[in-house]
Amino acid sequence: MLENTGRTELSSLGEFGLIKHLTQFIEIKNESTIKGIGDDAAVIDYKNKQIVISTDMLVEGVHFDLAYMPLKHLGFKSVSVNLSDIYAMNATPKQITVSLAISNRFSVEAMEELYSGLMMACRKHNVDIVGGDTTTSKSGLVISITAIGEADKEDIVYRNTAKEGDLLCVTGDLGAAYVGLQLLEREKKIFMESPGVQPDLEGNDYILERQLKPEARKDIPVLLKKLEVKPTAMIDISDGLSSEILHICTQSELGCNVYEEKIPIDPSTYNMAREFNLDPTICALSGGEDYELLFTIDSADFPKIKANPDITVIGHLTHAKEGVNLITKAGTSVTLTAQGWDSLLKK
Ligand code: ADP
Ligand code: MG
Repeated sequence: MLENTGRTELSSLGEFGLIKHLTQFIEIKNESTIKGIGDDAAVIDYKNKQIVISTDMLVEGVHFDLAYMPLKHLGFKSVSVNLSDIYAMNATPKQITVSLAISNRFSVEAMEELYSGLMMACRKHNVDIVGGDTTTSKSGLVISITAIGEADKEDIVYRNTAKEGDLLCVTGDLGAAYVGLQLLEREKKIFMESPGVQPDLEGNDYILERQLKPEARKDIPVLLKKLEVKPTAMIDISDGLSSEILHICTQSELGCNVYEEKIPIDPSTYNMAREFNLDPTICALSGGEDYELLFTIDSADFPKIKANPDITVIGHLTHAKEGVNLITKAGTSVTLTAQGWDSLLKK
C-alpha cells in the first residue's frame, strides 16, 4: 500500500486527516454500494434481497496480543471473523464498516499496516469498506467491524431449523488455530525470559496461519449451491466445535451424537497438540477460532456431499431426550459440554 518509513505521529494528521489518509485508496466494487465513505451515512441498495448484518469487536489484550500478531494480519483477521458470520447465514458479504479506537502509542505507519490487511481481506472477498468511526483510546487498540451482506430469502440458513435424523457436517479441519496460539504464547514467554533467543516457529506454517490469518469460508455457500444442498441449519466455528454444536441443538430443540473418530484434525495440529501434552480432540472441541462452518443436512443429501474433501460428516441429530453426546474412539458416550477450554485442556 504505502512505503513504511519512519514514524509519523497520529497527531500530525488529526482525526479527519487520518481517516482521509487511510481510506484514500478504497475503491467501490459492488453495485449495491450507492454511497461509501464521505457522507454522514453510507447508502446501500439491495433491491429485492434480504440483508444480513453482523458485528464483532476485537480488543487488544483480550482478543489479540500485538507481541506476536502483526498489525497487517490483525487487519485481515478482523475482517475474516466478521465475514465468517455472514457466510454462516449462507449469504454473501458486500460491505463493511470499520471503527477504530487508537491510542497515541500507534503511529500513522502502524495504522497503514492495519489497513493494508483490512483491504487485502476486502479484496479477497469482494467487499466494500463504506464507513466507520475513528476515535482515541487511552489504553489499547479496539477494532469493531460491522459486515453487511445479501441473500435471497429462501437461501438464508438459521441455527434453529435442524431436524431429527439430519447429518452434522463440518468444513476443513479443527483445532489448528488453538495449537497455533499455544505455540505463539510459548515462544513469547521464552522471548520475554531471554530476549536474545529467536522464536522457533520453523515448519509450523499451517497452524500459525490458522491463528494469525484465518480464512472465512467464502467457498462453502457457493459449493453447497453447486451441489444443490441447502443446509437445514448452519453456524460458524468461532468458540469451538462443542459450543457451536450446542447452539444448533439447543436452538433446534434436538439432541446429537458426534463421533470423535470423525472429527477432522490436521496431522500438524495433532502433532503440536501432543507436543504440548494436550488432547487433540479437546483442542478441536474447545479451542475455537477455526472459522470453519458447521451445518446440518437432510440425510437424503448425503450422496451429494460424501465425495467432497472439504466436508466431513461427524454425527447426526437425534431427539432432544437423547442429549448431546460425544461417542469416543473407545465407544463410550460422554455428554458434550461447552466448558471453557482452560479447565479442560490442561490435563
Ligand atoms: P461523523 O462525524 O459524521 O461521524 P466522521 O468524521 O467520523 O463522520 O467520518 C467521516 C467519514 O469517514 C464517514 O463516511 C465515516 O463513515 C468515514 N470513516 C470514519 N472513520 C473511518 C474508518 N476508520 N474507516 C473507514 N471509514 C471511516
Ligand atoms: Mg464519526
